[in-house]
Amino acid sequence: MPQLTDPDLARAVETVYETGVGLSEPDIGAVLRLPDDEIGAALEAAHRVRVRWCGPEVEVEGIVSVKTGGCPEDCHFCSQSGLFASPVRGIWLDIPALVEAARQTAATGATEFCIVAAVRGPDDRLMTQIREGVAAIRDAVEINIAASLGILTQDQVDELVAIGVHRYNHNLETARSLFPTVVTTHTWDERFDTLRMVRASGMEVCCGGILGLGETIDQRAEFATQLASLAPDEVPLNFLNPRPGTPLADAEVLDARDALRAIATFRLALPRTILRYAGGREITLGDLGTRDGLLGGVNPVIVGNYLTTLGRPADRDLALLDELKMPVKALSSSL
Ligand code: SF4
Repeated sequence: MPQLTDPDLARAVETVYETGVGLSEPDIGAVLRLPDDEIGAALEAAHRVRVRWCGPEVEVEGIVSVKTGGCPEDCHFCSQSGLFASPVRGIWLDIPALVEAARQTAATGATEFCIVAAVRGPDDRLMTQIREGVAAIRDAVEINIAASLGILTQDQVDELVAIGVHRYNHNLETARSLFPTVVTTHTWDERFDTLRMVRASGMEVCCGGILGLGETIDQRAEFATQLASLAPDEVPLNFLNPRPGTPLADAEVLDARDALRAIATFRLALPRTILRYAGGREITLGDLGTRDGLLGGVNPVIVGNYLTTLGRPADRDLALLDELKMPVKALSSSL
């Protein structure tokens, strides 16, 4: 079995395994700086931690966008911003299409269906559509419903709880110290406030971000620590997939070894969290990444298309899980 050579770090990692409490920020930085020949040891340690604290099952999720593109915000990585000359334009999905997407998602064996809208926060029109859409899905399909609608007010948080949304996704995206260079139309703290309200409401918190936005290793460690402070139920970890027309169109794609270090690190920082890696993994890691990522402490898989770029076809992901002998999680009995 590969070993970490730094005895203090090896002890800290073993403590994560024993206690289920994540690494401290300095130790997170140390894992992010491991030499190439210790990446395998870190991934193996992350895998042990996942199996011990999250169980062997993999959660499969589907995602649908009810409003794509035309967002008034300026997140520099996002092709859905209406402020850049990117090819994605505003499109709204109607309720029958939403129910059909939920049905198709459930048919893949997925347990979670997330409704996403590219907005700063929901207006009355969107809240009405969500209210009606969630009711129609609950009538027709047996699946957990999650939502991702941007920055919320307390009233909107309360309404989402009342209509039965069981998980809310809102990403911090990056470290607080880097955020103002990547987004200027709202603040990191506005995002954090929404997450605090969601956490207090009893909805599950899904909160992640994107690596490769120009953050230093210290800022990557800062971000992992800030995420851990929220104790999120789920963390989607993305790697920047530079989109044409966005300010980060020419950014360099994260090195595959750095991506694998990050996968191991985030698991060791968040031992009990569902860790999912989504958009960008094809270009950064390819099939190797899916394999090593799953074995490196990642739980769920998103099936089908991502929001604005084509993801892997669902059957390829499901076949890989079968090959790796990873059972797909059954639908939660808490529905
Ligand atoms: S990340 Fe969200 S808030 Fe930012 S531009 Fe994209 S859709 Fe809008």
